[in-house]
Amino acid sequence: MPDTDQALWRDLLSAVQRSDPGVCRHWFSEIKLSGIESGVMELVAPSRGHVEYLRRECMRVFTEAAVEATGHLLGVRFVTEPTLQKSAATDGAATNGHAPQPASAIDELTFSPDYTFESFVVGPNNRLAHAAARAIVDTPGRTYNPLFIHGGVGLGKTHLLQAICVGIEQNSPDARLLYISCEGFITRFIECVQSGRMDDFRHQFRDVDLLVIDDVHFLAKRDRTQDEFFHTFNSLYQQQRQIVLSSDAPPDQIPDVEERLVSRFHWGMVAPIEPPAYETRVEIVKNKARNRGAKIDDDVAGFIAARIDSNIRELEGALTKVQMLASVDESPVTMEIARSALGEERRKEPAPVTIESVVDAVTAYYDVSLSSLQSKKRHRSIAFPRQVCMYLAREHTRYSLEEIGGYFGGRDHSTVLHAVRKVGKARQTDEHLDAAIRRLERELTGSSKPSGE
Ligand code: ADP
Ligand code: MG
Repeated sequence: MPDTDQALWRDLLSAVQRSDPGVCRHWFSEIKLSGIESGVMELVAPSRGHVEYLRRECMRVFTEAAVEATGHLLGVRFVTEPTLQKSAATDGAATNGHAPQPASAIDELTFSPDYTFESFVVGPNNRLAHAAARAIVDTPGRTYNPLFIHGGVGLGKTHLLQAICVGIEQNSPDARLLYISCEGFITRFIECVQSGRMDDFRHQFRDVDLLVIDDVHFLAKRDRTQDEFFHTFNSLYQQQRQIVLSSDAPPDQIPDVEERLVSRFHWGMVAPIEPPAYETRVEIVKNKARNRGAKIDDDVAGFIAARIDSNIRELEGALTKVQMLASVDESPVTMEIARSALGEERRKEPAPVTIESVVDAVTAYYDVSLSSLQSKKRHRSIAFPRQVCMYLAREHTRYSLEEIGGYFGGRDHSTVLHAVRKVGKARQTDEHLDAAIRRLERELTGSSKPSGE
């Protein structure tokens, strides 16, 4: 672009950075200003996914920045191909990416540029899910079918699902992929039933090489949709087409889903994503900062990671807060800035529960010894207190599943996961157990605050 445009674009970008560093991405440097016409500034981004991101997250901040940078009232338009000057490159080209897309009733196939394998930090909490996702990109339909990823909110399920799609799209551009939210699937099903166009529906969902459905727990109680989904599943499975699903709970813990579906969800690989441990959170903060083109020191990343210990979306929010304050203060991101940005959240300072204190409390309460907890003994009188230890250690310390398993007699992470889930679930129905665990928790955290803050 001409020098004047270059300069204008640089001004605009720095205005965006000042006002909302959280939405900035390193690839903003690839955006080109194609011109201003009829009060609209046109900006060209590398792909549909990038354009979608800009339209979704950045419309307002770019518009304000455009006004600031030019001193004129301007609108902003994001496109994949310039439409203003008819340059030779785009003129009449058959591959013009900007040609109007055929109207489609279902989610357009665009993936967030943030959700790739490169930007996914692998840790003990998501290693299995990540490895399975990678394997699927290498040999779709043949390694694990279906792949069923489950985990709590904001732990990276959608990120991994989209990374799979992008990976497969790169490996085989001709592959027919369908990525859709469960609600999208349900809506589409209802529409097709109502308009009597079930053939369309079947064609759309069965004639694909990869079907990815996000958040399948929304199928709960939807009997007819489940029935159709069951047939969709079978059809794809028989043709060795890859199916990838995500959910907020493991298959057998999604309420109100038919048994025959639950059993199919188990046919391939069921992979959990757990909340990330501290070290992984630090890496995620660094990774996000890099992706935003921001510089932060290790101690600041560590500080942010220590503040937020569950949902990764909140971690990103905390990083944004810190970046914002730095931007307002026109300062680099220092520890001091981080402290004052997140200072008021000092709260949750997790009580320093140690694994020893968990063991002390549990051995006293259940009258078992540490050595039997660490032994291979599987009698209930020992196995159960051991599971309680695992549960408490998981809930109240920063150790990973592997580490906890190792400590309690060299058990693997799935044993710990099983224990954590079992005790967590049992607590909900068994009052005595719940009371016992609350008592242990009070002892551990030295407080009488009610749980569930
Ligand atoms: P979910 O679908 O499980 O609710 P998302 O996939 O939407 O969660 O993830 C929430 C946010 O956390 C996203 O911005 C995502 O990029 C980020 N995130 C989650 N896990 C990771 C990870 N392992 N590495 C990097 N970013 C992650
Ligand atoms: Mg999601």
